[in-house]
Amino acid sequence: MAGIYIHIPFCRQACHYCNFYFTTSPARREQLVGAIIHEAELTRDYLCGEVIETIYLGGGTPTMLEKGQIQQILEGIYKWYPDVNLKELTIEANPDDLTDEKVAELTSLRALGLNRLSIGVQSFHEVDLIYMNRAHNATEALDAIERVQAAGFSNLTIDLIYGTPSMSDEAWRLNIRKAFELGIPHISSYALTVEPKTYLDKNIRTGRVLPVDDAQSSRQFDILMEEMAAHGYDQYEISNFALPGHRAVHNTNYWRGTKYLGLGPSAHSYDGSSRRWNVANNDAYIRTIISDGEVPYETEILTPAQRANEYIMTSLRTMWGCDLTNEQIINYNDQIRQSLANMDHGHYILQDKVIKLTQAGKHYADRIASELFVDEP
Ligand code: SF4
Repeated sequence: MAGIYIHIPFCRQACHYCNFYFTTSPARREQLVGAIIHEAELTRDYLCGEVIETIYLGGGTPTMLEKGQIQQILEGIYKWYPDVNLKELTIEANPDDLTDEKVAELTSLRALGLNRLSIGVQSFHEVDLIYMNRAHNATEALDAIERVQAAGFSNLTIDLIYGTPSMSDEAWRLNIRKAFELGIPHISSYALTVEPKTYLDKNIRTGRVLPVDDAQSSRQFDILMEEMAAHGYDQYEISNFALPGHRAVHNTNYWRGTKYLGLGPSAHSYDGSSRRWNVANNDAYIRTIISDGEVPYETEILTPAQRANEYIMTSLRTMWGCDLTNEQIINYNDQIRQSLANMDHGHYILQDKVIKLTQAGKHYADRIASELFVDEP
């Protein structure tokens, strides 16, 4: 089984914290769609005939494409990857895009398998949305959710961001509870991070906006975990929470190391032994595929230690934990156990050869993973 991710790099406006590849220029959408379909053809052997279980249209903002364009992409994928047993087809959307007309378009895309929406809400409070420079306001966020629910989309996930300097702990709790009240079955929630070279980074450095406070983020992460647990959501990955039956199949497969193909500029792919990533530039992407008939990507063949480290990094973030009997790390158990012995014992539990993070440890997941990283024997 495998998944396909399609990166649609168009956004209405630049959110100040964002470091994904996107453009606010709507130019060349038609050509980009053509190039993505051609890339599907050029890469049709990449997944070696694995059955496609999930498709994820992300970005960027995929709903900035017209319905016909999304339809063309999906039909192109089904043409070049005919071995499909689709469990999940997700599309990301922003609240300002989810007009009555767009929701009607999405509804008609169900015929092509669309069965899940991921909505970039980020906050139900105006002041946070302004701080992040989101294109929507709080009313639009609520209206969008009600509109898609009324259209029958029940398999929904929303993104919420905490740690915004404009947000008190109480306001954060209200944000989470608003999601419960709206009956959202899956929530992805991330701390606001200041990535280099973003507007947020620049605005903080020049004193135009307040900086992000780590202690606030940490408190709000604890509030998130408490609220989710109290309302029956599994924290099946550090930033992902689901009611029973609503875990994301696409992302879960990714965390479990299944193969995936990424189509579109900046998209990443993994075939079990190597990673590759497409050029993060619309013009270069379109030109190379359409004119040269080649996919512009760079690739890296992973060494056994790199594969082990990737497994450590992703598995530790999940509720299933890092299994010392997993084939990726079975030959590195001595190194891992040695590193564990030097770590804060309050940050993890080792039981039945599986390492899991405690709630305290979840605050330091990336650091703990890197402390467990292995070298070639
Ligand atoms: S909508 Fe998403 S991809 Fe686009 S700028 Fe905002 S965060 Fe980035």
